[in-house]
Amino acid sequence: MDWSDSPEQAAFRKEVREFIQTQLPDRYRPKDAFAPGADSSEGGEEESELTAGWQADRKSQDPEKRETAKQWADALAARGWIAPAWPKEYGGAGLSVMEQFIYNQEMAESGAPSVGGMGVSMIGPTIIVHGTDEQKEEHLSRILSGEVAWAQGYSEPGAGSDLASLQTRAVRDGDEYVVNGQKIWTSGAHFADWLFALVRTDPEAPKHRGISFMVMDIKSPGITVRPIIDMGWKHPFNETFFEDVKVPVKNRIGEENRGWYVGMTLLDFERSGIAGAISYKRDMGQLKHFLETEDGKRFRRQDFNTTRLELADRAVETEVLFNFAFRIVSIQNRGLVPNYEASVNKMYGSELHQRISRTGTKAWGLYGNVWDSKSEHAPMKAHHIKDYVGSVPHTIFSGSNEIQRNVIATRGLGLPRG
Ligand SMILES: Cc1cc2nc3c(=O)[nH]c(=O)nc-3n(C[C@H](O)[C@H](O)[C@H](O)COP(=O)(O)OP(=O)(O)OC[C@H]3O[C@@H](n4cnc5c(N)ncnc54)[C@H](O)[C@@H]3O)c2cc1C
Repeated sequence: MDWSDSPEQAAFRKEVREFIQTQLPDRYRPKDAFAPGADSSEGGEEESELTAGWQADRKSQDPEKRETAKQWADALAARGWIAPAWPKEYGGAGLSVMEQFIYNQEMAESGAPSVGGMGVSMIGPTIIVHGTDEQKEEHLSRILSGEVAWAQGYSEPGAGSDLASLQTRAVRDGDEYVVNGQKIWTSGAHFADWLFALVRTDPEAPKHRGISFMVMDIKSPGITVRPIIDMGWKHPFNETFFEDVKVPVKNRIGEENRGWYVGMTLLDFERSGIAGAISYKRDMGQLKHFLETEDGKRFRRQDFNTTRLELADRAVETEVLFNFAFRIVSIQNRGLVPNYEASVNKMYGSELHQRISRTGTKAWGLYGNVWDSKSEHAPMKAHHIKDYVGSVPHTIFSGSNEIQRNVIATRGLGLPRG
């Protein structure tokens, strides 16, 4: 298979590279944090645990970080590159499938943070398809400027894989809905300004048919966001409670009780997973490099030869994932929509991530268990043990891997439903 760029694609790649070279603030340029003698305060505990990333910088107490976040968002916005896949008429860049792939590949290679989060990837496209002109006017430009961040309120304590059994209730009262209930695992709600949610508006209807989709200002009276700290001591998500929250009817996207179909809107945007494939490749490269340094040899387990074979397996698997990303993009480039292939990608990528972190942890023997990234006994600043713990949820979110396997079995392999 020949994956080389056409002349037009090569020119576009050059344009993206030059943009990154000239516009990406230093703060977001990857440092060789694991190199022997690297300053251990850089990318250290405080940074990486709770405060790293563009979203956090945007809301940081530190004016310099806020300014850096704005500078990067402004540079991207000037090109329409906050939303490279959105149509131009809505302020996106309207890039073709191949251009989006190249753009994502170059951004991931450089470690540049994306801007816009769920606003760009989820709610923006949903408003483009189902929103009124007023809703487009109100929300799209503020997503594109990076001014407003969004969180997703779908899951509830009793509704995850079986999302349609959600119980958060919205009762119409004149021009408003009154919302009561609870969402859970709301990622980034502590950084978000707005929330999009699925709520039950008709409890009598069959479960998929009594749901509406609405957006709300997260600071509305009656909304409480309570942190959930994960087992790696990070704060990625929250519980979100609604107590008599008044949501204007004009904030409903789409028809009442048709919210399920609004909530499932997925546009045919670039979904190759190339960014994940690149970051695993980078991880493997860093591990291999560090294992060969004098500092790395100090930590290596005694029977290191057994680890070599595992490392080789991981390297091959990373290459497989990389080529799989090309497969997805070539499907899209032919105007088709990846179906069970997207499930294979999610399943394989998330499980590979867990395998890489396990192999990395094993390579260091007992040192692999040291959690304190500042300890002199922590190889690669405890990267692998943290990744081991941090990668656990990857097989759960975005549709658990069991659900992906169901999709592969029924749609991909044509097996009967169990
Ligand atoms: C890090 C993280 C971030 C998240 N962020 C968000 C967010 O921002 N917003 C949001 O709304 N939600 C979010 N979620 C929630 C996520 O979507 C759900 O956790 C996920 O859909 C699984 O639902 P559940 O946790 O209720 O598990 P359940 O659905 O109760 O599943 C429990 C187990 O049973 C298995 N199972 C369930 N049904 C089937 C079946 N039919 N066949 C085979 N096995 C099955 C599952 O695979 C799983 O192993 C996040 C989750 C995580 C871990």
